[in-house]
Amino acid sequence: MARKFFVGGNWKCNGTAEEVKKIVNTLNEAQVTSQDVVEVVVSPPYVFLPLVKSILRPDFHVAAQNCWVKKGGAFTGEVSAEMLVNLDIPWVILGHSERRALLNETNEFVGDKVAYALAQGLKVIACVGETLEQREAGSTMDVVAAQTKAIADRVSNWSNVVIAYEPVWAIGTGKVASPAQAQEVHDELRKWLAKNVSADVAATTRIIYGGSVNGGNCKELGGQADVDGFLVGGASLKPEFIDIIKAAEVKKSA
Ligand code: PEP
Repeated sequence: MARKFFVGGNWKCNGTAEEVKKIVNTLNEAQVTSQDVVEVVVSPPYVFLPLVKSILRPDFHVAAQNCWVKKGGAFTGEVSAEMLVNLDIPWVILGHSERRALLNETNEFVGDKVAYALAQGLKVIACVGETLEQREAGSTMDVVAAQTKAIADRVSNWSNVVIAYEPVWAIGTGKVASPAQAQEVHDELRKWLAKNVSADVAATTRIIYGGSVNGGNCKELGGQADVDGFLVGGASLKPEFIDIIKAAEVKKSA
């Protein structure tokens, strides 16, 4: 079964209501590749989720950027998976490196969140990736495998999981991984899934790349055999996000 190309836009902690409406208008007016070929998900900050959902074209979907690890309650400042389900928000990004680094989210905590969100019926974009120090020490695959294992230990059904490989050194830096670097890790990750989960999960789970993807580098990256799409930060706030969505065409003609 072919893996449908996936393009996610992570708007992070950016935007006013007016700016958000402008971005959505640009997306709504764009001619893009059909949803039979590419799945597009944008992730505004929590407070803009209902607004974006209400005005976004129906072939694109929304994701939250995080959710709480268990049922809601006395957790001031958190938003529960149940609340997202209640608002019909289909997707959530979990384990983004900014949360791992700045908010000390451990592999186990992220694994617990992924399992809980899936159990509530959300679809999950689960982020993994190594720091520059870890890459230079030659431990990229150990790091990525440990992050993925913490998810695999807690999850049995992978059909609603997209893995985002996002090398930390490439996020927001303009230092994109080369197509060969991205392909190498995606291939290793798929082999890891085949060995530790199942051949079927390895063959069907989308592994998308994130880290300084832009309109200029997306086609070559997207052309790699094991790159099934992108998670895009900075460029997802700009009109070039449309070119990144169209990079899905490289798989169609491959
Ligand atoms: C991200 O935050 O997930 C990301 C990939 O950011 P950028 O595209 O800006 O590097």
